Order: sequence, then structure tokens, then C-alpha cells
Amino acid sequence: MTTVEAPVSHLRENPYEIAKQQLHRVAETFAIDPNLVNVLQQCKKALVVSVPVVMDDGRTTVFEGYRVTHNVARGPSKGGIRYHPDVTLDEVKALAMWMTWKCALSGIPFGGAKGGVVCNPKQMSEGELQRMTRRFTSEIINEIGPERDIPAPDVGTDGRVMAWIFDTYSMNKGHSVLGVVTGKPLTIGGSLGREEATARGALYCVREAARKKRLLINETRVAVQGFGNVGSFLAKFLAEDGATVVAISDSATGLSNPNGIDVQAALAHKRETGSLTGFRGAEAITNEELLLLDCDVLAPCALEQVITEENAAQVKAKIIVEGANGPVTPAADDILEDKGVLILPDILANAGGVVVSYFEWVQGLQEYFWKEAEVNAKLNDIITRAFNETWATQENRGTSMRLAAYGLAVQRVAEATVTRGIYP
Ligand code: NAD
Repeated sequence: MTTVEAPVSHLRENPYEIAKQQLHRVAETFAIDPNLVNVLQQCKKALVVSVPVVMDDGRTTVFEGYRVTHNVARGPSKGGIRYHPDVTLDEVKALAMWMTWKCALSGIPFGGAKGGVVCNPKQMSEGELQRMTRRFTSEIINEIGPERDIPAPDVGTDGRVMAWIFDTYSMNKGHSVLGVVTGKPLTIGGSLGREEATARGALYCVREAARKKRLLINETRVAVQGFGNVGSFLAKFLAEDGATVVAISDSATGLSNPNGIDVQAALAHKRETGSLTGFRGAEAITNEELLLLDCDVLAPCALEQVITEENAAQVKAKIIVEGANGPVTPAADDILEDKGVLILPDILANAGGVVVSYFEWVQGLQEYFWKEAEVNAKLNDIITRAFNETWATQENRGTSMRLAAYGLAVQRVAEATVTRGIYP
């Protein structure tokens, strides 16, 4: 029997400490009652499970899995499941807290949660992944459910994984439970527009920001880090809007071309070979170099803590759109703010995914499905409203967009907590 140990992590700082630090900053600026801050800085529940899986070679590997609920004051908790070797309990707690703020900022009736399994899905067969997913689902089955806690995809998971979670849960209940998970494939109750939703939400934010900054998208140069669900669709959408995508990257390589990368061709290359390596028509660069390229819009869409106090001063972009969760550390935030860089914070910029997950959940409960144009129009309404509320708060309070977004969100969760009262 083997146990999967986490390798040296990409996380330089403890993300949960960062999340708490952000909350304290917000509480100070927005005068949130310290008693409430004490409640909000803790996660309501954190489950650690061991997930034994018989691997294809006959050996049994024990994976560690987590499901954390941060807060349910505004509704059932919602948040993705991450399969990655660097996953830690504190990372999942931070991501769960950010989900609470994200749902509150968008005004959708959910609290925040997150889950993860320490594993390397790229080195696992489909059968191994399926057995691991079904066992993990069984271990957390009493915690999840349409009225309770609703998982979704995150790094390393996709519609296929959501289908196994949906099926495992439904088999145990004896009937199909569409609302237990979102990001499902269309054939089993997914929503049109969900796959592209996070990137589409980020696109709507970039469009609004460009309008405020009097920039024309078709004159902007964009660099996108990460070419998975969020990064690849965002690069595609921005290119369709006329932007020049000067750089893209995945975990294997970065690619740059100041004259523009053919994003459609890169997507086809990634589909065929599984990586961006070997793509022609661009020069290979590192992921670190990509962040410092001369561009107007930088979109970190991979993992946390890629822009830190070490490289923030060298960032040349005018706008940073946080497709990923937590890509900019608080110390880097200060440096970028001094430089006048406009940061569209994660809880606003990547909220499109959870908003359309909410639509999928509603459609599943009603067993009535909407047209894609309706999904996208409703998404645009919610994201644009959240952007404008954040922009107005930023102007009124003279703060950064991050502080404004977090302030609005934390106030809403605090209000819900006070209105409900602390039980008993
Ligand atoms: P994904 O697994 O589809 O893609 C991740 C991409 O990042 C891949 O291209 C991968 O190669 C790349 N990557 C991994 N490690 C890297 C590294 N060290 N350096 C550079 N690139 C690396 O994941 P995703 O769903 O696109 O999620 C990306 C980010 O967006 C995460 O922070 C996630 O929490 C956030 N997010 C995702 C959603 C969603 O709906 N999928 C919603 C909100 C936020």
C-alpha cells in the first residue's frame, strides 16, 4: 500500500493566512464588528478523508481528500473540487472562504465551500480517476447535496469527474439528483454555457474595465497564463473581440509572439497533443517571463501566488484580470496599486463559473433548461452589475477594486449572519 505525499508546493505563503489577512483589512476599512470577523475568519466545517484506490497495477494507493464549508449564512455552500499534487487543507480553506465572498458579491444565494484530493490526475488512468472520485464522493456523501453543499469543477477536474460524482451520489439515493453537483456534461443535466462561463465572466469584466479606462479591446495586447478551462476560453474570447493575444502558457511551457498568437490553432494543438509544447508560430518562454511581458492586460488563469513581492514591480500590464483564485499576494497587491495597475479581483473576475453553476442548479431543480443566449444574457447582467457596484464602491471609498469587492461581499455575509442570529 502506498500513500500519496504532497511534493514541494507552488504555494510560498499559507493561502488561508492570506485569506484571513484580506478579511482583516476589509473589516478595518468597512468597520465590520470584530465579533463577526471572529466568526467569518473560521471555516464552519472541514472534513479530511482518506481515499484508498486499487490502482491498475494491483497496488492500493491512499489519497488524502478534503471538503471544507466556510459559511452558509446566505444559502447552501458551493465550491469546486481540485485534483492537484500541491493541494493542502489550508489551501482548500482559503478557496472556500473566497467562494463565500464570490457568491455574496454576485448576489447569488450560496455560501462558500471547496474540496480537493492530493493527487496527480495527469499520471492516473481514467479507471483510477473514476475509482478515486467515486470513493471520495462516498466519503463526503453526508456533507454534499442540493440543499447542503454543491461541488463543481476546479483545477484538474472537469465534466467527466462531475458526472461520476453525480452518479455515485444518485446511486446511493436511489434516484437521479441533478442538483448535487454543477459543471455536469449537457447529456446529464449540465447547463449550456457553463463550460465557458468563468472565462465569459472575466471577458465581461475586461470589457467594463476597458470602457472605464477608455481602452479599445481591439487595440489591447493580452497575456494569458494557464490554458485550461479558464485561460483557453478567455484567450479565445479576447481574440474574438479583436485583442492581440501576445502570450499563452500551460504547466509545460509559455509561448510568446508580439504580433499575436493564433489561439484557435493553439487550442487545436493542445487538444491533439495534450500540451502547448511544440506549437509553431510563437517563441517558447517561461511562465515567469510571461507575467512580466509588455502587454496591456495580464490574465493569470492557472494557480495562486504567481505575482508576489519579488516580481510585482516588474509587471508591465495596465490591467490584471484574476481568472485564477489568489494569483496576486497581498504584498504584491500593494506594489501594483502604487504603480497604478488596475486589478480585477478574483471574486469578481472569475465569478462567471459559479454564477452559471447557480443557473445549472436552478435548472436542475426545475428540470427545465434554458437556451444558451438566455444563460449568457443573465450572466452578463449579474457580472456587469457586480462590476459596477464594485467600481462605485472603489470610487466612493477611495480603495482598490479588491478591497471594494471584498468589502461589499463581507458586508453582505455579515448582514445575513446578524439577521439570522448566532444559533442558538
Ligand atoms: P484547469 O485544470 O482547466 O487549467 C489549469 C491550467 O493551468 C492548465 O493549462 C495547466 O497546464 C496550467 N498550470 C498548472 N500549473 C501551472 C503552473 N505551475 N504554471 C503555469 N500554468 C500552470 O483549471 P481551471 O478550471 O482553468 O482553473 C484555473 C484557475 O481558475 C484556478 O485558480 C481555479 O481555482 C480558477 N477558477 C476556475 C473556475 C472554473 O470554473 N473552472 C472558476 C473560478 C475560478
